[in-house]
Amino acid sequence: MAIKFQKSDKPIKIEGAHDMPPMPAALGSMLFNKTGSWRNVRPVIDYDKCIKCFICWKFCPEPAIKIVDEKPVIDYDYCKGCLMCVEECPKDAINEELEGK
Ligand code: SF4
Ligand code: SF4
Repeated sequence: MAIKFQKSDKPIKIEGAHDMPPMPAALGSMLFNKTGSWRNVRPVIDYDKCIKCFICWKFCPEPAIKIVDEKPVIDYDYCKGCLMCVEECPKDAINEELEGK
């Protein structure tokens, strides 16, 4: 069955394993491959703008966004800086910062 994702303010419901992001749920070996060293640009969440829709969590291709205390939190050990989360965030709540600045 095709899954259609749309950019929307509507929060994603998280009720069980079937709601896990497809890539991290399918490839547990990613947890052993820390991809943070690949990153040139660092995504940083602005919690004043974040509406906790978890679209960033759903789209992140690594196990790099975790939900902690009902907030998305980026784990920089795994974030490879692809900026998919920045692209998909409906509130422009994720900023880009150059690494090493
Ligand atoms: S950072 Fe953006 S995509 Fe992620 S939960 Fe917040 S509003 Fe949603
Ligand atoms: S830039 Fe965003 S989408 Fe890409 S790996 Fe890092 S947290 Fe995940």
